[in-house]
Amino acid sequence: MSNRRTGTVIGCHGDLVKVAFDKYVIQNEVAYVLVGEERLKSEVIRVQGHQAEMQVFESTQGIRVGDAVEFTSELLSVELGPGLLGQVVDGLQNPLYDLAEKLGFFLKRGTYLDPLPDDSEWEFTPSVKIGDKIRAGMKVGTVPEKIFDHWIMVPFHFSGLGEVIEVAQKGRYKLKDTVAKVRDADGRETAVTLSQHWPVKVPIGAYARKLQPADPLVSKIRIIDTIVPVALGGTFCTPGPFGSGKTVLQHLLSRHAEVDIVVVAACGERAGEVVEILKEFPKLKDPRTGRALMDRTIIICNTSSMPVAAREASVYTAVTMAEYYRQMGLNVFCLADSTSRWAQAMREISARLEEIPGEEAYPAYLETRIAAFYERAGLVQVYSGEKGSVTIGGAVSPAGGNFEEPVTQATLKVVGAFHGLSKERADARRYPAIDPLSSWSKYPSFIARDKIQSAMRFLRRSNEIDQMMKVVGEEGTSIEDFVIHLKGEFFDAVYLQQNAYDKVDESTSAERQKYVFDIVLDILERSFRFEDKEAARQFFLNLRQQFITWNTLEFQKDEFNDLERKIRSRYEDGTRK
Ligand code: ADP
Ligand code: MG
Repeated sequence: MSNRRTGTVIGCHGDLVKVAFDKYVIQNEVAYVLVGEERLKSEVIRVQGHQAEMQVFESTQGIRVGDAVEFTSELLSVELGPGLLGQVVDGLQNPLYDLAEKLGFFLKRGTYLDPLPDDSEWEFTPSVKIGDKIRAGMKVGTVPEKIFDHWIMVPFHFSGLGEVIEVAQKGRYKLKDTVAKVRDADGRETAVTLSQHWPVKVPIGAYARKLQPADPLVSKIRIIDTIVPVALGGTFCTPGPFGSGKTVLQHLLSRHAEVDIVVVAACGERAGEVVEILKEFPKLKDPRTGRALMDRTIIICNTSSMPVAAREASVYTAVTMAEYYRQMGLNVFCLADSTSRWAQAMREISARLEEIPGEEAYPAYLETRIAAFYERAGLVQVYSGEKGSVTIGGAVSPAGGNFEEPVTQATLKVVGAFHGLSKERADARRYPAIDPLSSWSKYPSFIARDKIQSAMRFLRRSNEIDQMMKVVGEEGTSIEDFVIHLKGEFFDAVYLQQNAYDKVDESTSAERQKYVFDIVLDILERSFRFEDKEAARQFFLNLRQQFITWNTLEFQKDEFNDLERKIRSRYEDGTRK
């Protein structure tokens, strides 16, 4: 007798299908609903007695009571191996370009392509020999993938310390070819192939230890690196109202941040925006290597028009891929835009299950899910000693930009840095619109702490004066206070703001940031004497112009020293306090 397990559809409500079965069903296993010729992928999300509810990752149109269901005993998983870099996939890892090529731009329901082509060949170089001791997650060899050595690792279900009993010679192998065999302490043998499957919803990494994130992730966005830095292996969120620059910021980070690999989850945004990404990204150059940016990027795309279940899965798919590359000792950046759309998917699914709703109708487990997602970030040391990291950054798009809502609040409880985008700043086109006063970070910057504190004290003071000036006007403000106001504006314009559309200003190296910050801080702390407010205004306008020109020049330290001298000569009558 076959142990194929099947069931029958007894009801359908939105993306949710109710199934009756005889034998048993596993929570979260993948199943297929058979509708005519089509096989619709689904996931069991609740089992009660001899009935189960499944979310379908496809349009459920045409599903009828009596349709057959096949259970697979497998958890929702992704295939991991060489060939992932450069891919654009949906939340279920269907390659979007291939699908579009094969089927036209309208994705046909129930079509699942192999995420990694089985017949692709890779040059394998073994790094172990027979008898070597080995554990899950340790490499048996490598294959070159773009600019990286992709580790071929012992599958993660392999338990305990074992040994290598077979290893292939250097040569070309296909994805499913066995390149090594390992045996565990109980004598069980496991084949190692070039690719493997990982479940997406449970973290599976096998490493020696998790370490405290400490080294700054150089984002090259000045306001971030200086005032609200992120650490390699850390977490941050970017809440902001519509149009405040969340997506632009994530794109800047994915291009310029000093990391090895970027995994972008475009989750639930409008289809137009996603098409933009698909068109734009493949054209971009990696500013550091000059190669295609896609060579070190993976994009997971789900538009607001795709089924919510696939959207719910997409952030897990993204972070699982990030964890996989971390396991090779690489620094991986995982960016999700937007986690609010992900949370809305959870809310819709929960509503259909008729679960008891929590705040704003989000499920009671919203916080737990959000925390569990960000917890998958981290700096780890793998068994062979290398360190790798996954840094997670999530955009949050609360309705009306109100941060007092459940998704923003749950996120703020778990992340290490908060980059709050302000509508006021965005409206004034002060980009990036991160509010320097209300945002925070618990990670260290590469700029000395005391210098940042001085600048922050200054910002708070100038902000107070700005508020006061709104009431009493310029006339009612003393010239001393007015100069502080002008300095604050100067700091904002030349340092905190950064133009995403200027090819030099859009990114600033750590070296240049340190250099410029010192000069700017020197100006903030210097006392100047002016005849009147107009003279002060003119002086800072000129100075600002100098700096903005400076920001748009390539960084050549020698030429900068000349320029600095020129700039300094403009304020040499000022004396340091
Ligand atoms: P959101 O994702 O928050 O809805 P976007 O990232 O799409 O907002 O940004 C909206 C618009 O704001 C952009 O199209 C662009 O014109 C402007 N913008 C955002 N960030 C910047 C920036 N750093 N520099 C210049 N313009 C920006
Ligand atoms: Mg956006």
